[in-house]
Amino acid sequence: MRLALHWQILIALILGVAAGLLLPDGALPVYEFLGTTFLRALKMVIVPLIIGSIVSGIAGVGAAAGLGRLFGRTFAWYVTTSLLAILVGLVLVNVIQPGIRDGHGVATELGLAAADPALQAQLADRGPGDLVGILQRMIPENPVAAAAQGQMLPLIFFCILFGLAVTRLPEAPHSRLLGFFEALFMAMMKITHWVIALAPVGIFGLMAKIVASAGFDAFAPLLRYGGTVLLALVFHAAVTLPLLVRLVGRLPAGRHARVMTPALLTAFSTRSSSATLPLTIDRVKNGAGASNRVTSFVLPLGATINMDGTALYECVAALFIAQAYGVELGIGAQVIVVLTALLASIGAAGIPAAGLVMISIILDAVGLPLEGIALILAVDPVLDMCRTAVNVWSDSCGAVVVARGEGENVLRDDP
Ligand code: ASP
Repeated sequence: MRLALHWQILIALILGVAAGLLLPDGALPVYEFLGTTFLRALKMVIVPLIIGSIVSGIAGVGAAAGLGRLFGRTFAWYVTTSLLAILVGLVLVNVIQPGIRDGHGVATELGLAAADPALQAQLADRGPGDLVGILQRMIPENPVAAAAQGQMLPLIFFCILFGLAVTRLPEAPHSRLLGFFEALFMAMMKITHWVIALAPVGIFGLMAKIVASAGFDAFAPLLRYGGTVLLALVFHAAVTLPLLVRLVGRLPAGRHARVMTPALLTAFSTRSSSATLPLTIDRVKNGAGASNRVTSFVLPLGATINMDGTALYECVAALFIAQAYGVELGIGAQVIVVLTALLASIGAAGIPAAGLVMISIILDAVGLPLEGIALILAVDPVLDMCRTAVNVWSDSCGAVVVARGEGENVLRDDP
């Protein structure tokens, strides 16, 4: 009997941590090879998968009225869950106050190391004005270039537009194009299955490399901050989202979690919602049984703009930095933090550490020094793993709830 994929991945994850701690001589390049090969294979699938999935999904819907409803439900899910996540973070960071010790901010204690120049350069051109830029950059000057450079939001924008155009064509060209993109999507899902088979080996390599190169020492001074983020993430993932799945979707959240485990563990070890997307689509479609119409709209868009974990993290990190510098933020400033955290999470790409860079938007909006980011660098990789898993979890919950709202029979059988 073959072990289920989520068990294989879990075992690989544990073995990876052990291998990273033991680190036999000369093993690091091997771990790196395994992890990088897996990541490359995942990334290889993304662009053609997104094109096939979105165009066939939208062109297949046909009726424009149905599409409007689907858009509405999806965006309602994105905004509601992201705001709920931020509120959990806001409450916890105000109650726990991880940035304050014995009545003083912990900035000096943490030795405010100068941020490395590459990060500084990235931060320099970020600010509230950047939000307008995010919206503007959604429109690709050249869709082929956007695809070639892997820019997700412009690519998705173009595919949605293209799919809509296909629905407006006469019968013959409509069915020809629809047939082509459906076939493209099916072929890409096949390749995805082959790549998924590599997941345990790839995840072993990724984990071993992370543990071997980071070690655990760097995290000690930031335990209270990291703990606050983790607590909030766990609450959102284990209480808020399952409750919504149950109450709004009237669906079994536990069974959905079991179905999604391989994707969540992959998100955890790759730190990238975009790289995980092929697995997320596979699990929601083939595991939970949602239609192509819903998955192909909700998931690619969700992987790019719906990031509950990142939104929550942005809020906690910004308030932690304020506390660490001894800056008291009033209600007005905290409302600005909440709104900018939401926008920053929408703007963050689904790649490792994207959320870290976006914190600068919030710091800028409430007038905190950008160097504050240096305070939280050390623990970012671990928090990134956890928030990415929550990002993917929220996308998948949204997909099944929306599918249920559309009258689909999801999560009926045991996985
Ligand atoms: N790594 C996260 C993701 O891909 C984004 C972030 O850095 O928060 O979902």
